[in-house]
Amino acid sequence: MGNLRYLQKAIYPGSFDPVTLGHIDIIKRAKEIFPELIVAVAHNPQKKPLFSVSERVRMLKKATALIKGVKVTDFSGLVVDYARRQKVNVLIRGLRMISDFEYEFQMALTNRKIAGSIETIFLMPNESYSYISSKLLKEVGFMGGDLSCFVPPYVEKAMKIKLHEDKCRPGIC
Ligand code: ADP
Repeated sequence: MGNLRYLQKAIYPGSFDPVTLGHIDIIKRAKEIFPELIVAVAHNPQKKPLFSVSERVRMLKKATALIKGVKVTDFSGLVVDYARRQKVNVLIRGLRMISDFEYEFQMALTNRKIAGSIETIFLMPNESYSYISSKLLKEVGFMGGDLSCFVPPYVEKAMKIKLHEDKCRPGIC
């Protein structure tokens, strides 16, 4: 605790399936605090993601191309192990609503138990993004809804293509 190492670098881990304006808001806020930020896309096959890890990384790289000091990468396994390998002591997570709190609280305390030297810092997005979730956007997109207020244009385009492919799988179309 109280270690200045905390202030140099942080990791923002998540599924980012896909990146939304809410995630981008958190990335910008974290960058105000930390000179270096690693945005780390989790390999999490049990979540059945819409986009592959490399597609998610590519979209995040595009979204953060103009933000200096941001590196986008992927990781497998426990985030605390990844953080240790990167010699990073801080994890960033976003808190949108009270509904996020219980899960995030459990995860932060579990991570602290496993790796006591790693702290989790929670940041809140601008309130206009506080209801955006990748999961809900996928449902809206699947029904043909307009996603332009929630994601960058290239993400919306990629979602439309991907969701159309999903709809047109044999047996569904
Ligand atoms: P995960 O599967 O790890 O929860 P997500 O991509 O859904 O991955 O979210 C990654 C992090 O970003 C989480 O801490 C989540 O609470 C946060 N987050 C997701 N959407 C938003 C948003 N609209 N505003 C702020 N934080 C968000």
